[in-house]
Amino acid sequence: MSRLSARGPVWVALRARVLDRDGGVCVYCGGEASEVDHIVPKAAGGRDELANLAAACKRCNARKGARSAVARLTWFNPQWLDRV
Ligand SMILES: [Zn+2]
Repeated sequence: MSRLSARGPVWVALRARVLDRDGGVCVYCGGEASEVDHIVPKAAGGRDELANLAAACKRCNARKGARSAVARLTWFNPQWLDRV
């Protein structure tokens, strides 16, 4: 099994939906997204749901720290407000 599926098929499907919804574009730099990032970090109570996930490229996803992801967003997808 690949590392991508380490979190299970539900996560893999969710991740694919997020990338598709955001057009495969990184929300932080506009580059090609290959990963998804939690807008509210899981450590802060963020959940694995469409409204809390955004497409991100490897570089931006790796750069996340204590800083809020919202402050780093370069564009906002209204669909993030849709609850699953
Ligand atoms: Zn990026």
